[in-house]
Amino acid sequence: MSLISASSLAGSLLRQEVLDLHAYHVPDSSGYVKLDAMENPYLVPPALRGEIAEAVAAAAINRYPDPGAASLKEKIRAATGLPQGMELLLGNGSDELIQLLAMALNKPGAVLLGVEPSFVMYRMIAAFTGMRYAGVPLAEDFSLDLAATLAAIRREQPALVFLAYPNNPTGNLFSADAVAQIIQSSPGLVVLDEAYYAFASDSFIPHLARYPNLLVMRTYSKLGMAGLRLGFLAGSAAWLEQLEKLRLPYNVGVLPQLVAEKLLQHHDVLLQQAEQIKRDRSKLYQQLGEMAAVKVYASEANFLLFRVANANEVFNGLKQRGVLIRNLNGGHPLLKDCLRVTVGTPDENARFIAALQETIIQSA
Ligand code: PMP
Repeated sequence: MSLISASSLAGSLLRQEVLDLHAYHVPDSSGYVKLDAMENPYLVPPALRGEIAEAVAAAAINRYPDPGAASLKEKIRAATGLPQGMELLLGNGSDELIQLLAMALNKPGAVLLGVEPSFVMYRMIAAFTGMRYAGVPLAEDFSLDLAATLAAIRREQPALVFLAYPNNPTGNLFSADAVAQIIQSSPGLVVLDEAYYAFASDSFIPHLARYPNLLVMRTYSKLGMAGLRLGFLAGSAAWLEQLEKLRLPYNVGVLPQLVAEKLLQHHDVLLQQAEQIKRDRSKLYQQLGEMAAVKVYASEANFLLFRVANANEVFNGLKQRGVLIRNLNGGHPLLKDCLRVTVGTPDENARFIAALQETIIQSA
């Protein structure tokens, strides 16, 4: 074989869509007050951790996991209050489920439609599965531009629509009426991504049976299990039996199944943590609202979006002071000079506010 470099070989063999992608960037967060990734800042109480440790010690990790995860699904069904007749499909995080849906619906020329700004993986996964992506801008206040969205649906006839409810990175919950109109007007499948359901005032899970083209997706990442990687799709068997064919047989390991099951047996503990986070979100919202140089947006998620005069400068100033949040400037025109902060512990939030005040005073 001729002497050819690995990079030119990769460049000639890989699909153009892959070469054009930028990997999902995860910055090194070691040593920082970590408020960049919408994680739950709390561990569970020591007694429960002990119970988990015992169960893990006894786990049969020499065996493949239960491919159907029957026992875990039962716990999820109960914790979710899944309506009668509805089924579940589990994913290694909900990212995996977005990918699975795109693979399943990607007929030649099929369109994936999302609103913008929203969760970037919808667009990224459309790109690497080769689906055509159509993005509809939100209104200035980040609400749905219903007329534009319905027009885009008529024009593009999307096979798949993703709506995050509440939306990331804006934090707001779209109008339920507008969402219902989108579902009813869509010729394709609509997936409501309820990643932040634990912090929100509404859900479409109770309405699943009403719409034949609706699935609801959730993740446990924001409820204290980001490290486990567990998400699910909920909906009718007609959809999930088909999608199940694409799920890799052992996508949720023995340990994630077992630990999630234990945690869901103590669902009340996780929900109490979510309630604490909601209370701290209100306080943080109020504190940011009192800062003249900051415009903060209302949120039904475990993070807050806010706008400053110079987001890059503020982001770097916070980082120098040991606080890592997310800089959204440059991502989308509507997010000009916007930053996103995850609600942490009261102490972390106080450190963030203090660092922000210092940064803003210094840059004024
Ligand atoms: N959907 C939304 C709206 C998100 O914000 C995220 C994570 N940031 C995900 C899905 C993916 O979550 P995971 O893969 O951890 O389940």
